[in-house]
Amino acid sequence: MKVLKFGGTSVGSPERMKNVAKIIDDNNRKIVVLSAVSGTTNSLVEISSLAEKQLKSEAKKAIEELEKKYAIFINDLLNNETAQKEAKELIFNIFETLKTLADSPFTVRTEKRILAQGEIISTNLFQLYLKEQNISSVLVSALNFMRIGKDDEPDYFYIKENLKRELKAFPDTQIIVTQGFITKNVYGEIDNLQRGGSDFSASLIGAAIKAEEIQIWTDIDGFHNNDPRYVKNTKPIRELSFDEAAELAYFGAKILHPASVLPAKLQNIPVLLKNTLQPEAVGTLITREEKGDGIKAVAAKDGITSVKINSARMLLAYGFLRKVFETFEKYETSIDMITTSEISVSVTIDNIKNLAKIEEELQKYSSIIVEHEQTIICVVGNFIAEKTGVALKVFEALGNIPLRMISYGGSMHNISLLINTKDKQKALELLSKHLFETSNE
Ligand code: ADP
Ligand code: ASP
Ligand code: MG
Repeated sequence: MKVLKFGGTSVGSPERMKNVAKIIDDNNRKIVVLSAVSGTTNSLVEISSLAEKQLKSEAKKAIEELEKKYAIFINDLLNNETAQKEAKELIFNIFETLKTLADSPFTVRTEKRILAQGEIISTNLFQLYLKEQNISSVLVSALNFMRIGKDDEPDYFYIKENLKRELKAFPDTQIIVTQGFITKNVYGEIDNLQRGGSDFSASLIGAAIKAEEIQIWTDIDGFHNNDPRYVKNTKPIRELSFDEAAELAYFGAKILHPASVLPAKLQNIPVLLKNTLQPEAVGTLITREEKGDGIKAVAAKDGITSVKINSARMLLAYGFLRKVFETFEKYETSIDMITTSEISVSVTIDNIKNLAKIEEELQKYSSIIVEHEQTIICVVGNFIAEKTGVALKVFEALGNIPLRMISYGGSMHNISLLINTKDKQKALELLSKHLFETSNE
């Protein structure tokens, strides 16, 4: 059985939703995971933030605006009267819930419940459309089987057992529709897998049923060799390994949620990235195989802070790095990049919530320089087979752009460079020009 996930733009309009129905209607049993209609989760975030600020009339206005959009959506999606009536009732109930939530005392739970409605709406409307088209399908709520533990990590055993039970109830149904993004937490409350988390849902579901393949359908023809939001003339990559895809996703390639590679990798399930707007395009296949030489792609991750820890006493002092890492561990802050010299060590972090406490502790035995607005540029490929020159190519491409940190050799798949965020656009363009438009053509 395959798992197919369709992102926000893929279900972004009634036309697109109908197109998804065409893509999935091929007489093979499958699980279809849907995101919210594009723009909806952003609107719900806005509604939640207005509710949190107790701006009740603004929140109500935003809810009503979104409700109007769905009135039009339903009209264009469904033809028959019964389906339309059911959809209207559904939308009415969901928006009443939203109004009640926005009007009640605000807690973290309120936010999670508000955010969950996007996927609940899209899957219910899609199921109504499939029913109208006489396509054999059932909607199984992700809240019946998806669960995260105390540490916010997925509870693999729970998901597997509960999904198995849910699927058993519909042995003859071809299409099982479910929500991405939403989950229950360890207390049985509604929660989510973070923004962009529907990819992660699909991967967890795929791993739980040991799917034959996990397909991620989006608005682009696969993983491109650079970020198309910043650079023109990027090109799709046919094949990537799990490790290469994970590095790129973690370092900013929005096409894939960073956590979504691991469950597929652990079960060795191929992940195919496909374009809903161009289903005939080949896309990108992510597997265990490490194919091809040299540099394959570039990604960039913003919002990075560098911390330079300078200590004269570090010289020859074993245990110094342990002390540094323990401090970051104590304050639950993960480190992305690290470089060392004889008297200092520099690290980068993307979560600065506990930075003040970390600084205070490190300052007991070192001097600290913190710089914000940094970006990690990550160059990914298979560098084993290529004998020399990968780093040289990257440095030459970047020309005069100041490099704050360089990390190479941690794996044979990655060169990471820290630059000022203001240089990012230029850096990505230069890398595309020198790495992909000339030598690798
Ligand atoms: P969905 O809503 O389907 O989950 P996303 O917006 O999350 O879609 O991801 C697809 C987008 O990711 C593309 O439209 C593209 O702008 C962006 N993107 C960033 N880096 C890359 C890359 N290296 N390859 C392809 N797309 C990328
Ligand atoms: N709807 C959620 C979001 O916009 C999850 C997803 O699309 O993956 O973040
Ligand atoms: Mg996404």
